[in-house]
Amino acid sequence: MFSTFLIKYGEIAIKGKNRHLFEEALVNQIRHALSKVDGDFSVMREQGRIYVDCEGDFDYDETVEALQCVFGIVGICPVMKIEDRGLDELGNDVIRFLEETLKLPSAPAGHAGDRKPDLDLDRIENDSSRVTFKVMTRRAKKSYPIPSMEVNSELGGRILDAFPQLRVDVHAPDLLVHVEIRDMIYIYSKVIPGPGGMPVGTSGRAMLLLSGGIDSPVAGYMIGKRGVVIDAVYFHAPPYTSDRAKEKVVDLAKIVAKYTGPIRLHVVNFTDIQLYIYEKCPHDELTIIMRRYMMRIAERFAAMDGSIALVTGESIGQVASQTMQSLAVTNEVCSLPVFRPLIGFDKQEIVEVAKRIDTFETSILPFEDCCTIFVAKHPVTKPNLRVIQRSELKLQEKIDEMVETAVNTTETIFVK
Ligand code: ATP
Ligand code: MG
Repeated sequence: MFSTFLIKYGEIAIKGKNRHLFEEALVNQIRHALSKVDGDFSVMREQGRIYVDCEGDFDYDETVEALQCVFGIVGICPVMKIEDRGLDELGNDVIRFLEETLKLPSAPAGHAGDRKPDLDLDRIENDSSRVTFKVMTRRAKKSYPIPSMEVNSELGGRILDAFPQLRVDVHAPDLLVHVEIRDMIYIYSKVIPGPGGMPVGTSGRAMLLLSGGIDSPVAGYMIGKRGVVIDAVYFHAPPYTSDRAKEKVVDLAKIVAKYTGPIRLHVVNFTDIQLYIYEKCPHDELTIIMRRYMMRIAERFAAMDGSIALVTGESIGQVASQTMQSLAVTNEVCSLPVFRPLIGFDKQEIVEVAKRIDTFETSILPFEDCCTIFVAKHPVTKPNLRVIQRSELKLQEKIDEMVETAVNTTETIFVK
């Protein structure tokens, strides 16, 4: 019965001439998300609305789940779409719709907000506190002969006759029955929450420093949620980090790409640079110097891909390399803005998002990380920029060439 979805999106961000771009990007992202679901879908924009039509067989749950990954979607409404066969027939359809709606299978775990529990007519029947409803008719087709108010009261009466346990409440109904009269008539009620945010493609491109940890995939998700296209760079240190560690990062990129669309993942061979820093610089400065080279190299890929910012999973004070002083020293080498969406998050809060977006289980797989292998017992927590710069001078002889080699031997994986 529900082979159409009405897509609700945030209206506030898209007033004026941006609306067109916003809607176009949203339609593209919806098409992309549905391309992985079995079924024949068409996505249409019509009078400030977006509809997804499903032709033939399709999996309801899978479709909803895919739509719940599309940033910019605030709500997904399963719609019953019918021909206009007069008000009497419309009443029958609305009753059929309610019978079906009140026992729709619940959607897969949502990515946003809480949802009213599904209403259950059988339960309601035995329940003295009766469920309230209201019919809201909208005549997008002005030639329809009956005014909206009249349609409301006619359909309201029909519903009351069919379901004596329901009651009308025009102010705060439990159930809003929307009836939209266009060339076809659309009936919907349930709103399944979407992830919100802005459609990817409306806010430029950024380069994510993606490790195999918990934080950076969440950071990528959050920047993507603001409409930003994401590419990623991973610093790999074979043989100190294994192929499994790399596969894990590819898997994380795949999960993030479910939300952001395809990601170009640059896998940089970082071993020689790390060993060189290890050989030449004080060991307690190793992490911070290494992070400065990561940023420098990430900027090189940003320039190639057209990214205008870097993104990391850093949060103040989480580890020695993320104190305010360390962040300042790391930042000093960057000419692009560095976005750190998790900067004020506690680990627990980050973990919650990671679980919700499904990266957590992959992130905690126990593979070594290039930073932990070379990490000093007592890394500096308040690095001094001048001191660090002086240490880096010890790398003068070979480091530029090594950075060039690292950039030139990078493997780029197109992650979908
Ligand atoms: P994460 O869980 O994201 O790995 P973390 O708590 O382990 O973070 P660090 O190892 O200090 O913290 O890394 C801070 C940030 O630096 C990461 O969030 C990530 O953006 C970037 N980063 C660290 N290691 C790598 C790496 N090997 N490749 C790419 N980026 C990295
Ligand atoms: Mg890490």
